[in-house]
Amino acid sequence: MADHNAYDAIVVGGGISGLLSALALGKKGNSILLLEKTDALGGNCRTYEPEGFPGWRVDTGIHAITELIHGPLNQLKRYFDPGKFPAFRRHYDYYLRKKNGLEKIPSTLPGFLKMNAFPAKDKVVLAGDLLNTVISRAIFREKQKAVYDVISKHRLSKKTMQFMNALSYLLSGLSMEKTSVSRLLEGCGFSSGGKRGVIRRITETAKLFNNPGYRSQGYPLGGIQSITDGVIASFPKNVGYHTAEEVRKIEKDGSGFSVSTPKADYLSDKVVYSGEVKKLPGIIEMPVEWSRQVKQLEQATAMTIWLGLKEPMTEFNYNGSEVFCDVRDSDKELFYWLMPVPELAPRNKGLVGVSTIIDPKKCRDSEEKLLNTIYSLVPAVEKNIEMVHTQVMVPEKAAVSLNYFPSIKTPVNGLYVVGTDTDMRSMGITRAGYSVLELLKSL
Ligand SMILES: Cc1cc2nc3c(=O)[nH]c(=O)nc-3n(C[C@H](O)[C@H](O)[C@H](O)COP(=O)(O)OP(=O)(O)OC[C@H]3O[C@@H](n4cnc5c(N)ncnc54)[C@H](O)[C@@H]3O)c2cc1C
Repeated sequence: MADHNAYDAIVVGGGISGLLSALALGKKGNSILLLEKTDALGGNCRTYEPEGFPGWRVDTGIHAITELIHGPLNQLKRYFDPGKFPAFRRHYDYYLRKKNGLEKIPSTLPGFLKMNAFPAKDKVVLAGDLLNTVISRAIFREKQKAVYDVISKHRLSKKTMQFMNALSYLLSGLSMEKTSVSRLLEGCGFSSGGKRGVIRRITETAKLFNNPGYRSQGYPLGGIQSITDGVIASFPKNVGYHTAEEVRKIEKDGSGFSVSTPKADYLSDKVVYSGEVKKLPGIIEMPVEWSRQVKQLEQATAMTIWLGLKEPMTEFNYNGSEVFCDVRDSDKELFYWLMPVPELAPRNKGLVGVSTIIDPKKCRDSEEKLLNTIYSLVPAVEKNIEMVHTQVMVPEKAAVSLNYFPSIKTPVNGLYVVGTDTDMRSMGITRAGYSVLELLKSL
């Protein structure tokens, strides 16, 4: 296109899905303009210094990046310039925090049967349910079901039911009635989102007995910002970006599009939209039925509290993360996920992040409850705190439920959607990566 405001593709949104889309399309030789409404690129994939605490750095939520060995980030690595793809440290194990310390969460069914945390009867019942589910999916190609529908509700204790519900909330942001079994299997490391068909099904069944653990998970050295920085540093000259420029209107213009922001109008052959799919019908006219369906996408809200420690603590001296469930005095149980991230702390200090899913209307209560739970489980933390920073964010633009999910290609020719509300596989950044691979296949 000759017009200086005209591009082969405009990418709306500069979160990790928009950035990876711009990078891959740019490296294929397309002229790309990426427009981001906030002041910074990265969306939910950033690391920053919290206000009032110089020297400390925190990520936007705690992150373990999944499927690093064979997953989408590894496949998209080839678009990064040499040396720009971040280095990851292994995120080894998950632990369950109890009053008397940590118990490693096993990654196989026989290992689960040895766990002390559950009553013996519940372990046998749950193991049977899990085996049944995986085999039904493998042999009978059983369709997607909810966690609630595959567990033997009437044979499990209230505490175990609460645990399963809390685990569902943690993994998908939704209750066990709405959380899909795939999310549970992927979250517990029994299934990998990428493989399909017969191989996937056989692998899934075998993994129950011979699972190498979480060896394909990692944490990027330098914080999750290093993923965002690596993409930006790899942009070729034909990829440009503007921050603080919100796309308010997209119109079909002949065979292309006109894209408007408060600052300018642009033309493009294609548009890749990476904001919330739910909000797209407010920006461009979409078919009524499609708009109705995307409105059903559900979101969860997460709270993360970062605790800066005056000195590192042996209680958090492991490479991985821990979970704990508070079911003491309420029916609305919470599940916490805590991860030490020592590399973001100033020298000789410690840093842990704790995340949980909350009701956004009850932020203050959740914050207090979260802090009290940590203090009761690891009392030495309270006296060792130097920095507290709280974040309330939407982790994924759509929770993995049993609902309809939009495909990358929209009903409008040349308009594509990417991001965590367009692919159900795996989690967060990996999910976003899967959507970008789908985009590349669709174009
Ligand atoms: C507590 C927490 C824990 C998490 N844990 C993990 C984890 O362990 N592993 C993992 O992989 N992921 C995790 N994530 C999730 C992961 O960070 C996100 O899912 C991922 O970064 C989302 O990328 P995205 O591009 O789909 O969306 P976003 O990051 O939401 O990006 C969308 C971008 O589009 C911009 N935008 C929207 N509308 C417009 C418009 N009209 N014009 C211009 N710009 C627009 C937005 O400002 C934003 O920058 C976690 C997140 C949180 C909060």
